Amino acid sequence: MSTEPAAPSSPVTSSRPAPFRASAPTIGVLAVQGDVREHLSALQACGAHAVTVRRPAELADVDGLVLPGGESTTMDKLLRAFDLQGPLRERIAEGLPVYGACAGMILLADRITDGQPDQQTLGGLDITVRRNAFGRQVDSFEEDIAFTGLDAPVHAVFIRAPWVEQVGQGVEALARVETGPATGRIVAVRQGALLATSFHPEVTGDRRVHDLFVGIVRSSTK
Ligand code: GLN
Repeated sequence: MSTEPAAPSSPVTSSRPAPFRASAPTIGVLAVQGDVREHLSALQACGAHAVTVRRPAELADVDGLVLPGGESTTMDKLLRAFDLQGPLRERIAEGLPVYGACAGMILLADRITDGQPDQQTLGGLDITVRRNAFGRQVDSFEEDIAFTGLDAPVHAVFIRAPWVEQVGQGVEALARVETGPATGRIVAVRQGALLATSFHPEVTGDRRVHDLFVGIVRSSTK
């Protein structure tokens, strides 16, 4: 990554604080359950206009969407109860940029291992995730891991996290567990405008993963 300061792209936007840039994309955070507030503030800090999404009409207004951590089985049920599943699947199929964190990664996955028998996902991301993959003994832990495209390791916080068991063609593995029994397991992926992490960058104050996502949304709205 270049350390050169970026040349101002336009005299109008270059001197303003990021949140007020005319080009600020509107990014929704799915707000049916989970850690919504932390994602809203991380997105704001990255210069996006962050809004909650609970209804299909709110989904229509966003340029990108975050699916937060929480409980994927509960979110799945609520998405169906709130008539959001169909509209979300449609927008994802149309190319909406989406970032799924932890339970959000499960929602984005085309295939789940160890899900509930009736559990459905939105899909879009050609991966198989293993739910609660790290097991009871070490179900929550933290470690610094290298993340492709970021200049220094990310402090990854895993909370009853999934890992990525298998990736399809066109999916790039961005980060893997580096220590312990799960060494080598994939915990961050990207497929076009879809980004997912097993861990929770919104709880660390490090905005680089959100920044990466806001960049994906910006380039998709150009
Ligand atoms: N274990 C949860 C699930 O299956 C995910 C946990 C999280 O998002 N922190 O959805």
